[in-house]
Amino acid sequence: MAHWFDLGDVAVVPLVEDDRLLIEPGEFFPGLEPDLGDWYAQEQWFDRAAGKLVFVIQSFLVCSADEVLVVDACVGAGKDRQRAEFDQLPDRWMQQFLATGLRPSEVDAVVFTHLHTDHVRAATAQRELVFPDAPHFVVEEELRYWSSAAGGAAMRRTGDYLADSVRPIEEAGQLSFVAPDAVLGKHAQLVPAAGHTPGNVCVRVRGSAGTVLLAGDTMHHGVQVRHPELSTRYCVEPGAAAEVRSRLLEEAAASGSVLLPTHFPAPSAGRVRRGQAGYVFEFADDLLRTGQFRYREWLA
Ligand SMILES: [Zn+2]
Repeated sequence: MAHWFDLGDVAVVPLVEDDRLLIEPGEFFPGLEPDLGDWYAQEQWFDRAAGKLVFVIQSFLVCSADEVLVVDACVGAGKDRQRAEFDQLPDRWMQQFLATGLRPSEVDAVVFTHLHTDHVRAATAQRELVFPDAPHFVVEEELRYWSSAAGGAAMRRTGDYLADSVRPIEEAGQLSFVAPDAVLGKHAQLVPAAGHTPGNVCVRVRGSAGTVLLAGDTMHHGVQVRHPELSTRYCVEPGAAAEVRSRLLEEAAASGSVLLPTHFPAPSAGRVRRGQAGYVFEFADDLLRTGQFRYREWLA
C-alpha cells in the first residue's frame, strides 16, 4: 500500500524499492539474539517464521510548490550486485517516482545522506544521470572517505559502486559538496550525524503542519532504539554512530518530534517515548496518508 507524509505545505513521499527485506540478526548486529518478548521483536519488526529482522529499502521525495528534492537513491535496476537480493532488480524505484506524475527534469536537487550502495546507485542508469538537470549534493568528508584506501577496502563487500554510480555524476559536473548543516531550499536542512559513515547526515524537513527528521542510517532497526549503544557491522565509526543515535533519540523523546529512519519497517516514521526499560518507538499515524501521492493533484 502506497503512503506518504503530510506536513501541510510539504509532502514527504517514500520511494520504496523493497518493503520487506529480511536479514539475519547476526549479520547486522554481531552476536545479537533478539529478546522475543520486547517490542522491537513484534511481527512488524521481526519475521518470527524466518527468525530475521525486517528492513525497508527506500528513499524520499520532499515536495512543495516551490521545489522537489530527492533524498538518497536506492539500489536501482540493471547493475550487477554481489548481494543476491540487490542483483539485477526490476526498476521499482523509478516506477514509484514516475507514479507521482513528476518528470525527472522537475527534480531541483538530489542529496545523499551518505554513499552506501543502497543510497546512491539508482541515481544513475548505465552511467547516465537519472536527474541530469539537478545538482547532486554530498558532504566532502564522505566522498573523501570512500575514495581513500579504507573506503576502497570497505567497498570490497559490495563491489566498486563508486565507479559506476558516483563518478558519472562527478564527471557530468553535477556533484557538489555541501556543509553537513547546509540549508537546502525552503524546507530542508542537513543535520550532522557522522559515525555510520564519516560524512553521514540527516535531513530535517519543515512544513507548515509538521517537522520530520529523515534520520537516514543513524539507526537501522527498532532494536537500536531499545539499545542505542548497538551499532551495525557496517558502521565505519561504531562509537561515534552510537553517540549520534543516543543524541537523536534523547532529542526526539524530549521534543516529541518525528523520526523517519530509512530502513525502519513501513510506515517507518514515528515518535520516541521513554518506557520503563528504555525507549519505545511509536509509529506516527497523524502525519501518515495512504494511497498514491500525485504531485499535480496535491498542488491543486
Ligand atoms: Zn542504508
